[in-house]
Amino acid sequence: PGRAELTALQHDDVAALLPEPAGESDKYRRGVVGVVAGSARYPGAAVLAVAGALRGGAGAVRYVGPAAQAVLSRFPETLVSAGPPAGAGRVQAWVIGPGLGDDASGLADVLSADVPVLIDADGLRLADAKTVRARTAPTVMTPHAGEAAALLGVERGRVEAERLASVRELAERYAATVLLKGSTTLIAPPPGDGDSSPTRVNPTGTPWLATAGSGDVLSGLTGSLLAAGLAPADAAATGAYLHGLAARHAADGAPVSAQDVAAAIPAVWRDVR
Ligand code: AMP
Ligand code: MG
Repeated sequence: PGRAELTALQHDDVAALLPEPAGESDKYRRGVVGVVAGSARYPGAAVLAVAGALRGGAGAVRYVGPAAQAVLSRFPETLVSAGPPAGAGRVQAWVIGPGLGDDASGLADVLSADVPVLIDADGLRLADAKTVRARTAPTVMTPHAGEAAALLGVERGRVEAERLASVRELAERYAATVLLKGSTTLIAPPPGDGDSSPTRVNPTGTPWLATAGSGDVLSGLTGSLLAAGLAPADAAATGAYLHGLAARHAADGAPVSAQDVAAAIPAVWRDVR
């Protein structure tokens, strides 16, 4: 299918993409995700992004930021790095943005890293388009409609009315894989991906996902898949697919919190595989 087409993600495609650790794997080869997220005001965003990353199969999650105590008290398995992201060793993919507030201090280091970077939430507002475009390694961006509208300089209603055109426009402008969240989630590849990669739509979402912090879980989960070596559009598609299924599994027709969604990822991973 060509880039102009819209294809629905299929169970079998996602099953084939799930990373499986090889017998000789060690934690570094399985992928190290770096998470730059959280602030004094929003420490929970860091905890939830780390939760998604840990459940996404990374060999290790490295956290850089001011919410280290909150992260460690919930997830002692997290590796915490003091100092700027550039000093954090062996990161194979970065996630930056959830709950950052106005702290752009880690952004230059992360965007100049020669590994995939996922930008979400406050990171989307703080990142400069020219810098993102100039990156040599892949970039994935995960805006909801409001964030996408701000990036495009249009009203939110225009993005809602023209979701497909909007996600493609962002992918062009930023030369990035863009995952537009919402009642339907769309994943557009960057322009250079030519005819090999269509725009994909995720069928697994549920309105129970419309709950605070669920996007942060998606960021961490997708970051983990990037660190495992999935191509950017595949990581984004697989992340969205598992995230939706995890919410359905956890909700089972009743409310869920973002933590519940993260905790349900292994169960749906098992089902998909
Ligand atoms: P965020 O806006 O960053 O908190 O992310 C919210 C998450 O919930 C994203 O994964 C959205 O795709 C998902 N979501 C929000 N509203 C809906 C909806 N009505 N139906 C399905 N998924 C939704
Ligand atoms: Mg969000």
